[in-house]
Amino acid sequence: MPSSLKVFQEHSFRFQCTGCGECCTGPEGYTWVTPEEITAMAEHLDMDLDAFCERYVRKVGNRWSLKETRVSGERYDCVFLREKKCSIYSVRPTQCRTYPWWPSVVSSEQSWDQEAKYCEGINHPDANEIPLLEREKQLSKQIAYEKNL
Ligand code: SF4
Ligand code: SF4
Repeated sequence: MPSSLKVFQEHSFRFQCTGCGECCTGPEGYTWVTPEEITAMAEHLDMDLDAFCERYVRKVGNRWSLKETRVSGERYDCVFLREKKCSIYSVRPTQCRTYPWWPSVVSSEQSWDQEAKYCEGINHPDANEIPLLEREKQLSKQIAYEKNL
């Protein structure tokens, strides 16, 4: 665990996903996907890999991201968001599974509180404290994932 994430071990973090779908929409951004995840998604949708990439994936530098759909002004939905729900939930990318336990979010209490402006599950009044073991498991997955992109 990087020393910059010491705060992650020392403080309590409360979170409970409400299913609001806000983390799948917002300003233009990236939902990174690995080639293995792309293959799993194409298989899930019973689509040819090339056709899937053409329709849903864009290349950014030497990485891949899911496309987005502009819904209004500066608001963009992930291409797989349907009525606030993920339409490929069982094969969604790792970064969607590990959110909000990302290094950029949990590296300080400030960044955690800042993220709560976008994610209502963070510090939600009904949320329980998430045990350190569970948080570490998700964070480790995300760190390994980011290295592999
Ligand atoms: S923004 Fe937070 S509470 Fe809403 S769906 Fe995403 S993780 Fe859950
Ligand atoms: S793949 Fe699913 S969970 Fe991930 S951003 Fe898109 S709609 Fe949300």
